[in-house]
Amino acid sequence: MARLSERMISLGSDRSEIREAFEYGRCRAAVVGAENVFDFSIGNPSVPAPVGVTELLGAMVAREDPVLLHGYTSAQGDLSARRALADNLNARFGTSYDEDCFYLSTGAAGALCCILAALTCPGDEFLTFAPYFPEYKVFVEGAGGKLVVVPAEIEAFQIDFDACLALLTPNTKAVLINSPNNPSGSVYTKETIEKLSALLRAKSEEYGHPIWLISDEPYREILYTETPSPWIPSYYANTLVSYSFSKSLSLPGARIGYALIPKEVTDFPAVYAAVCGAGRSLGYVCAPSLFQRIAASCCHLTADLAIYRKNRDLLVTSLRGMGFTCVEPGGAFYLFPRALEPDARAFCLRARAHDLLLVPSDSFGVGGHFRISYCVPTERVERSLEKFQALAAEYR
Ligand code: PLP
Repeated sequence: MARLSERMISLGSDRSEIREAFEYGRCRAAVVGAENVFDFSIGNPSVPAPVGVTELLGAMVAREDPVLLHGYTSAQGDLSARRALADNLNARFGTSYDEDCFYLSTGAAGALCCILAALTCPGDEFLTFAPYFPEYKVFVEGAGGKLVVVPAEIEAFQIDFDACLALLTPNTKAVLINSPNNPSGSVYTKETIEKLSALLRAKSEEYGHPIWLISDEPYREILYTETPSPWIPSYYANTLVSYSFSKSLSLPGARIGYALIPKEVTDFPAVYAAVCGAGRSLGYVCAPSLFQRIAASCCHLTADLAIYRKNRDLLVTSLRGMGFTCVEPGGAFYLFPRALEPDARAFCLRARAHDLLLVPSDSFGVGGHFRISYCVPTERVERSLEKFQALAAEYR
């Protein structure tokens, strides 16, 4: 028997509940036809990439020098791409970033893994707030840290500050937030960010070391709120940002995003070097070069977000009418209603009998809820409503 890493065997064999539902959907589609499976399991954007992206892609592939197009770039990313990303953020958020603040990555996942590997020392704990993206546990543990989950504040999916305070310790290296949130769709208010920033400043001082704030923002532009979402580094200096073009430009398979390390952070040169070193040790070499250039030229664009808003409105209104309780999402493309029985897994299994593929909330760190990923064609949402109705009727 080969001696292998038990941890890697376990990670490779235990599929996430999201993937499991997605794979089940594929098998089921082969039996009943894809149009009869209502797959709300995965966050694969249904809206095409903006025309600007596809036109530029075509033009680049047709015309450009292959070395420029497909060659290696600097490890931290092409200089002009990093400059363009800095200009974009500066114009939107009144900041003064430059090319040296960016490390281009394979999506937000790549950026997060580099940031976590850069920060983690033995014994470090990383706090996050339920409900949270389940891969956080994999990423934090992969970097050698421990994920500590603050229980959810289920009325609005903001932050339960008493619970947070109780879990902060001198071992807390960073707090990891995600707003707009996967899976709740909640957007942290300015008040929440101000309160969290004040708490982390006080605790950093008390413990005598910085508590980093890692802001994971793949849904930054997918917002339904009137007021813009707060730009977190403006509230808390020791913020490191992970970003992705997977959702805003509908390019999840292109694997392009970045880590932003503002120069205001404590020991900026060392932190930036550590992020680059992490990317090197993880074997990332450089982010996909073609999509570095696409992201740089198209970072001012978004896919057509109106479709997500329409799906959100339709689902929130219809499900509430059927007796479901759900917080109205302020962003992203997920809805996180309460299940109609305490056991979310049992509820989602009953939903499967109606060919409704939903993800139970347990792996997001909360019981009794389920996630609907509504980045699907509106027509599918419309046809699914009678299925939700039939499911709800079983509980009356
Ligand atoms: N963070 C969150 C909260 C996500 O929902 C996702 C993907 O769904 C990621 C990170 C990873 O995204 P990427 O495709 O950019 O690696």
